[in-house]
Amino acid sequence: ATPTALLVGSLRGSRLGVVIAGAEVLEHARGVDTILLDKTGTVTTGQMRVVDVTVAGESSAGLGAVDRGDPGASGGATVHPTHEQRTADLLRLAATAESASEHPIARAIAAATDERGVLGHFENLPGHGIRAEVDGHTVEVGRNATHGGNRLDYEKQSRHDPRTTVTVSVDGTFAGTIVVADTVKPTSAAAVRALKDLGLRPILLTGDHEASAQAVAASVGIDAVVAGVRPEGKVAEVTRLQATGRRVAMVGDGVNDAPALAQADLGIAMGTGTDAAIEASDLTLMRGDLLLAVDAVRLSRRTLRTIK
Ligand code: ADP
Ligand code: MG
Repeated sequence: ATPTALLVGSLRGSRLGVVIAGAEVLEHARGVDTILLDKTGTVTTGQMRVVDVTVAGESSAGLGAVDRGDPGASGGATVHPTHEQRTADLLRLAATAESASEHPIARAIAAATDERGVLGHFENLPGHGIRAEVDGHTVEVGRNATHGGNRLDYEKQSRHDPRTTVTVSVDGTFAGTIVVADTVKPTSAAAVRALKDLGLRPILLTGDHEASAQAVAASVGIDAVVAGVRPEGKVAEVTRLQATGRRVAMVGDGVNDAPALAQADLGIAMGTGTDAAIEASDLTLMRGDLLLAVDAVRLSRRTLRTIK
């Protein structure tokens, strides 16, 4: 390879909004035939918002919906907390617990209320959620198979407004669910089409539930989905594809994507992503726009043609 040609390629890359870790990475892109796309923050904006809160034993609170009132509160004879109080309590506990996490779901929940309790010990449960002490209680927020996350998710699913349901438990007891909505980025569908035109097979790879993964995949035109995988499961998927003779590119933004980005033949980080993802990758896209990943693949092919 002629270093000059590679350098021209990388300079062109920087003008396009792609930062290349070293000129040799363009060679890694040679023969890439499969592209794994992380869902949250890569195909979607990852700027989530809380759209529903359900307290255990009650029906949906429907945030932003018309207030249905609470019959128990009107007479003043009852000491039971009102529906609104129970919802506010659940949100306060969850928001306090999540205030120490950088995850998009955590940010959405933390932004849903200004009320805060006293936060004690906090721990991340990778690929699952978080656990924290709040006001002396153990609060867990995360994915929960036992409360039918998939089913709940599916009922409320919408294509362009993909939703994820998380479970809140307090001292080991199911306390309620919180639904957050994400948004598919406006250019993601066009990028997937262009990647297919370049001969790449796109696969959506996510730690999220199958239902929200399928909704996003359908909205951008991806027909292969690998859902519910932890960070090590993402690496295993890259390795599995490589073992079948495929050359794998991967695009991601999260800490949970970093090991898979490092394992991929061509790791591509969203510039909007975490440092861990950027450090593990060969290329960084300056804007959080998947069309830049298409440019990067095209660029590497053009550069290689110049060299030959
Ligand atoms: P992705 O692969 O889509 O970026 P993650 O691996 O980060 O997803 O998370 C997988 C799932 O774990 C989320 O869909 C959610 O159900 C749960 N989860 C992760 N982090 C949190 C958190 N801080 N709060 C609540 N749930 C979380
Ligand atoms: Mg992500």
